[in-house]
Amino acid sequence: MDYLPLFFDLKAKPCLIVGGGTIATRKARLLHKAGAKLHVVAPKVSEELEKLVAASNGKVFKQEYDKTFLNDVILVISATDIDSVNSVVAADCHAIKLPVNVVDSPALCSVIMPAIIDRSPLIIGVTSGGEAPVLARRVRSMLESSIPAAYGQLAQLASKFRQRAKDVFENGDLRRRFWENILNGPIAEKVLGGNLAAAEQLIEAQLDSASVEKTGEVYLVGAGPGDPDLLTFKALRLMQQAEVVLYDRLVSEPILEMTRRDAERIYVGKKRAEHAVPQQKINQMLLELAQQGKRVLRLKGGDPFIFGRGGEEIDLLAEHKIPFQVVPGITAASGCASYSGIPLTHRDYSQSVRFITGHLQEGKENFRWSEFVDKQQTLVFYMGLAGLETICSKLIEYGKSPSTPAALIERGTLPEQRVHVSDLAGLAAKIEGLEVHAPTLLIIGDVVRCHEKLNWYK
Ligand code: SAH
Repeated sequence: MDYLPLFFDLKAKPCLIVGGGTIATRKARLLHKAGAKLHVVAPKVSEELEKLVAASNGKVFKQEYDKTFLNDVILVISATDIDSVNSVVAADCHAIKLPVNVVDSPALCSVIMPAIIDRSPLIIGVTSGGEAPVLARRVRSMLESSIPAAYGQLAQLASKFRQRAKDVFENGDLRRRFWENILNGPIAEKVLGGNLAAAEQLIEAQLDSASVEKTGEVYLVGAGPGDPDLLTFKALRLMQQAEVVLYDRLVSEPILEMTRRDAERIYVGKKRAEHAVPQQKINQMLLELAQQGKRVLRLKGGDPFIFGRGGEEIDLLAEHKIPFQVVPGITAASGCASYSGIPLTHRDYSQSVRFITGHLQEGKENFRWSEFVDKQQTLVFYMGLAGLETICSKLIEYGKSPSTPAALIERGTLPEQRVHVSDLAGLAAKIEGLEVHAPTLLIIGDVVRCHEKLNWYK
């Protein structure tokens, strides 16, 4: 290990920055955040830097550096673009054993600055010791995206109840279990969802009853249309937290791979007209698993509230007061549209868009087809492959022009995506004989004209 990471308490302590340009300003912002009293010496000083110095109760000296500026400061940052000045500052500091950081010159430094993830009071520093700063920054962004922004609040909450928990749970094991439950379960989720007051109430209740109970929770998560990169941060976090996963046929393998390794996986997928596990049974399973204290992930394709029966699945949970969260996902319409160069609305072609189920019930006229004929409206049919021919001919029958452009997007956003473009009159014939794989999405309207031009990049 080339360096020992330490965290420096700079509150109200005098620090010196040599230099007055962009880099000096950037460093000053950091030091100011840590509460330092900033002094700056440089012939020219940026406006923002002057303000930061004033706000920190420090002083700006518009002149050349000399070593008298080192008196009474506890940390020095040299951020000039003149190498000779940086070297002199470093040498002067080393001579009196004053910690010094010279920007971009690890060899001249006695302390180096890490890339920082700030979730105060939780602070993470990442460094490569100056060997690979781009890599260190990359690690930082990985951590940034996997540690929710509200983790700071979680840490504050833990700090607020630390002493009480110590008093209530004298036994160290019990206390640890208490905190594990708090930081991993519904209470933490309340904090991350922005409801600090509710989280505090729940902690109070547990401390009052001096009991450590494991409460289950259900996460109803939209996994998007297939490409794992379209998951949300929140989806990923909950996926890695749940102990049991109930997933659908539409959830792609690479996405499933991103759930917790040791999680139990239960397939409850449905195919058209063939229910692997009846909906009622799924609802019941979610309830029972959560009642056993498990964190249950219900992973669904696209968005759970768009043709996803999400509402039905949480109904029973709400009745039984089981905590749950619903995480939106990118719905197939958005995913397929973006990945095929078909904007769902466009000022020239369409002012509204309608998501419609194409799951036509045998023999039943369950649509008001006449509502679909408006030329300025994009129609998106989910589950429309089996009924494709009927959908197209009904639309024509009710007055839509047979030449209205129509696209069938097959396995949208996945590497195997294919887009079949035609018009209402010709689409069914166009795909005849082709082996079209589910899932497919049907987009109808003048916006489909954009496909040819906007899809060039693929
Ligand atoms: N909740 C999902 C939709 C579930 S209904 C969502 O918001 O996307 C299932 C239908 O969604 C499929 O029949 C198909 O029409 C559509 N679909 C889902 N994923 C798709 C994909 N990757 N490509 C094309 N269509 C998709």
